[in-house]
Amino acid sequence: MIQEFGDEHRYDNHFEPYTPAEKDYLLHFTAAGCLARVCHVGGADADAGDSGEVVELPRVADYPRVPTDVTYLFSLGEERFFLALEDRVAAPAGFAYESVNWLRHAEPQHLLFAAATASQLDRWYRDNRFCGRCGAPTELGPSSREIVCPECARIVYPKICPGAICAVVRLADDPADDAIVLTRYAGRTTALWALVAGFTEIGEPLEDTVRREVMEEVGLSVKNLRFYKSQPWSFTDTLMAGFWCEVDGDPTITVDRSELKEARWFRRDEIPLERTGDRASMTGEMIERFRTMGRAAWE
Ligand SMILES: [Zn+2]
Repeated sequence: MIQEFGDEHRYDNHFEPYTPAEKDYLLHFTAAGCLARVCHVGGADADAGDSGEVVELPRVADYPRVPTDVTYLFSLGEERFFLALEDRVAAPAGFAYESVNWLRHAEPQHLLFAAATASQLDRWYRDNRFCGRCGAPTELGPSSREIVCPECARIVYPKICPGAICAVVRLADDPADDAIVLTRYAGRTTALWALVAGFTEIGEPLEDTVRREVMEEVGLSVKNLRFYKSQPWSFTDTLMAGFWCEVDGDPTITVDRSELKEARWFRRDEIPLERTGDRASMTGEMIERFRTMGRAAWE
């Protein structure tokens, strides 16, 4: 998954008021995406989700004029990442704004994780320049990652929205006939087959998110929920919790057409292979796990 890469790039988001050095990464975002340099290296294996692109992110020394409004973000191993908070910067030669979502398909994975995670923090900083309670301009906390209002003392912490990914399975007498519900979103031309998923509502435990989303999207009751793993998904400010669950009673799917284009049961040998090379998402990992392992996927 997107957050899984070697220990040499271990993620450390402990905040310190560091000042950037020449060799440190200094990221900048606009509505167009993340400042990055993309090189095509060939040897692309599209079936394995490999676009053959290698991405580099800008370091302080790359900038013709170093931005001054800068904050420390996090480290990956020995590499420190900073964020330029200014609306505009003088872009380093060879770098352009690239969609963070598109960068998911490039290498190396730790830099994609850095770009995605930094983009979530960038949104949070930009969305909280003024206090939501009293309207005064805010300031950055000097020693921890918080945004403070000097007028009313309100403190804003980074925004993380929990959600659930729900792998709904149907167990048959013969395990070869076990099946899983895959869905496709409406209104997206390139939508891949996915699992039922949705955000947690206020006041709702994650288990109820699973039951509600499965009922809303495909009209099924579920039982025997088993937590799988969780995954930060910075593209949508989300922390996703993955659950396996079994259909309870009638397996007839009723598709919520306002959200989904289609949804149906797939036996393991019917599952489309379009997700086999999806290294980033827990959805891809869970589908592939069921396809290759069957019931052992959650046992
Ligand atoms: Zn305030």
